[in-house]
Amino acid sequence: MKIAILSRNRNLYSTRRLIEEGINRGHEVRVIDCLHCYMNITSASPRIHYHGETLEGFDVVIPRIGASVTFYGTAVLRQFEMMGVFPVNESVAITRARDKLRSLQLLARKGVGMPVTGFANKPDNVPELIKMVGGSPVVIKLLQGTQGIGVVLAETRKAAESVIEAFMGLKADILVQEYIKEAGGSDIRCFVIGDKVIAAMKRQAPEGEFRSNLHRGGTASLVRITPEERRTAVTAAKAMGLNVAGVDLLRSSRGPLVMEVNSSPGLEGIERATGKNVAGMIINWTEKNQKLGKTRTRGRG
Ligand code: ADP
Ligand code: MG
Repeated sequence: MKIAILSRNRNLYSTRRLIEEGINRGHEVRVIDCLHCYMNITSASPRIHYHGETLEGFDVVIPRIGASVTFYGTAVLRQFEMMGVFPVNESVAITRARDKLRSLQLLARKGVGMPVTGFANKPDNVPELIKMVGGSPVVIKLLQGTQGIGVVLAETRKAAESVIEAFMGLKADILVQEYIKEAGGSDIRCFVIGDKVIAAMKRQAPEGEFRSNLHRGGTASLVRITPEERRTAVTAAKAMGLNVAGVDLLRSSRGPLVMEVNSSPGLEGIERATGKNVAGMIINWTEKNQKLGKTRTRGRG
């Protein structure tokens, strides 16, 4: 196969591993920086230009679109889809997953367990909003945050009100969520490929911290997940329409709760924690499914 990896940096661990495993299996692999692509989007025969060249002959595109380039990156991916190139994750699915409110609404529709979550735009009735999610302590999240930045634990009602009012005063989009204390500062990252969880790790926050992000000093270890956790992760990825996804779960007293679904899950943490060749499994899955050519939208989404 001729594989395009949509990534801004070929030196990132995940990109490097996908190149390596693609080449190991006899494929031609090229890294394409989406920001250097330009396109005539009105043409009936869609093409992509790149550093003066017209991109041609690709069978597969593996999107690794960073959060900061979602808008342009998904447009380039859509153009690949219109050209008939098989996307490992479709642009519509990535767009869904990048919108925290939209993804929680989609998960709710499929009956996937989640922490009770509320959102509002105006500070009119902050105490009601807090009551709606079960009262303090609550977790308040900035919608555009990543890597744990913009996630705040407010222990008391007063603290929650102040933080919510402050964020709203800054016109920041937020959601307010039930705090899952039993999780004990840990979460479970399930790596989904197709309809299977192929690897899972537990991330534990350092002492005195409730956020388990590795960027916040969390540590990762191999974990065995239950059949219910497995089912929940696969259902969540399916609800988004993602073939490759990182589904983050909290272990609560009422079962697994989905926190978020990541459309470009990093490979470094999961490969190191589990010793599994996740990049190779992605290439394997791609080989099988590219032949079937089953995509939902072909850029129509
Ligand atoms: P980000 O997108 O910045 O990673 P998350 O929603 O994943 O934000 O939250 C960061 C971390 O905070 C999670 O990995 C988890 O450890 C902790 N956390 C988030 N929400 C809750 C919650 N409702 N209850 C308990 N812990 C939470
Ligand atoms: Mg997270």
